[in-house]
Amino acid sequence: MATLNDIRSTFLNYFAKQGHTIVDSSPLVPRNDPTLMFVNSGMVQFKNLFTGLETRDYNRATTAQKCVRAGGKHNDLDNVGYTARHHTFFEMLGNFSFGDYFKEEAITFAWELITKEYGIPKDKLYTTVYHTDDEAYNIWKKLGVPEERIIRIATSDNFWQMGPTGPCGPCTEIFYDHGDHIWGGPPGSPEEDGDRFIEIWNVVFMQNEQFEDGSMKALDMQSIDTGMGLERIGALLQGSHDNYDTDLFKTLIEASAHATSVEPYGDKNVHHRVIADHLRSTSFLIADGVMPSNDGRGYVLRRIMRRAMRHAHLLGAKDPVMHQLVPSLVGQMGQAYPELGQAQAMIEETLLLEETRFKQTLDRGLKLLDDEVSGLDEGAQLSGEAAFKLYDTYGFPLDLTQDALREQGREVDTDGFTAAMEQQKAKARAAWSGSGDAADSTVWFDVLDGAEPTDFLGYDTEKAEGQI
Ligand code: ATP
Ligand code: MG
Ligand code: MG
Ligand code: MG
Repeated sequence: MATLNDIRSTFLNYFAKQGHTIVDSSPLVPRNDPTLMFVNSGMVQFKNLFTGLETRDYNRATTAQKCVRAGGKHNDLDNVGYTARHHTFFEMLGNFSFGDYFKEEAITFAWELITKEYGIPKDKLYTTVYHTDDEAYNIWKKLGVPEERIIRIATSDNFWQMGPTGPCGPCTEIFYDHGDHIWGGPPGSPEEDGDRFIEIWNVVFMQNEQFEDGSMKALDMQSIDTGMGLERIGALLQGSHDNYDTDLFKTLIEASAHATSVEPYGDKNVHHRVIADHLRSTSFLIADGVMPSNDGRGYVLRRIMRRAMRHAHLLGAKDPVMHQLVPSLVGQMGQAYPELGQAQAMIEETLLLEETRFKQTLDRGLKLLDDEVSGLDEGAQLSGEAAFKLYDTYGFPLDLTQDALREQGREVDTDGFTAAMEQQKAKARAAWSGSGDAADSTVWFDVLDGAEPTDFLGYDTEKAEGQI
């Protein structure tokens, strides 16, 4: 059976044979790009090549890019544990043309790779095109895809954008039908969010640039940007619809089961999945220099870590768990990503320290949460004050509380949470203005303002994205 490591190599070698330069993944923290929190796709490191600001000595490239989608325009944090196909960290396999080939070649490469090299049966594949894109439609038709399997989509699903600004364009996507034993419907249908028809590959025709004022212009060059999730194609080639059934995830889940002494079956499985997923994103973020903190990127890291730690707690773990799983991750991915092994000690120490600290308040916080919830009517919201107390006294990021409540079909009054946060800040300001020491209070409010409620609430909004 081909492992994820084999499948990654097959992809890169296929495109190298087609004249593409194999380029390393960029780090997860985008260099010189304040509009983006983390690299969320393969094209990010090539942004300036699409717009013509930069040229390199190649005009075809291929990569396996580390991606994190835990904030900003593409945020899958809340999907983890609920779908079979979303991670916070994943690898995006891509091929790129910078003003070289365009639609016909890009679609043909993708089709040849998946149907010949990977040997995926054609009759399980569906494609989508942007509703006005007759050219892409006709290329698929020419390749022999039956018309009823080329679906025209008018939504942003088929117009790809990295973030609020930057290069973008219509796209065509390839889906695989995993069979009617899994719930879900084809793209464009009401059941498309299920896991039966899984999107494996997105081929973007980079031909526009979006600007901050809302305008969009045609780029001088026509380029190609594609992205295929390694874990999704891996699951498919290993005979499952579920990313967590791949060799890599099975190993991580086994490590989690071993560390917690809880078998990964039944309702416990979801906790192991979340832990395995979050282990990858937190470890790779630390390896790329992000450290847990109370704002910005560091707070996203801390939120992911603490979510994982709550799931470890739900498995009954008495001792810190996350750091024990790092060797297993390094064993799986250290060869492809040497930075992981180099940072191993740092990752383990950081996870151990964070988990040790958080454990001191986690039990009591969860107890408070239970008490609060037990007094509520079925389906009633948790008050903003209670969520704020959990945040302020017990270090529960708002989304951790939301994650905990979602299991019971409850929500948090987020407006109430923001109001409680504001109230506390106003109180703190009033107390400080009495001290008379202006210099000190400026410093203090800088710290406090770094912890604006928008930082906690807003990473899934474009507004917050722009603030980083
Ligand atoms: P979906 O609709 O399933 O959320 P997407 O349309 O948001 O996927 P793209 O932005 O088109 O995804 O990214 C290109 C490819 O990267 C997808 O076709 C998929 O194979 C993979 N991918 C996207 N998001 C994730 C994720 N959170 N975890 C794993 N793989 C992903
Ligand atoms: Mg998505
Ligand atoms: Mg999609
Ligand atoms: Mg897509």
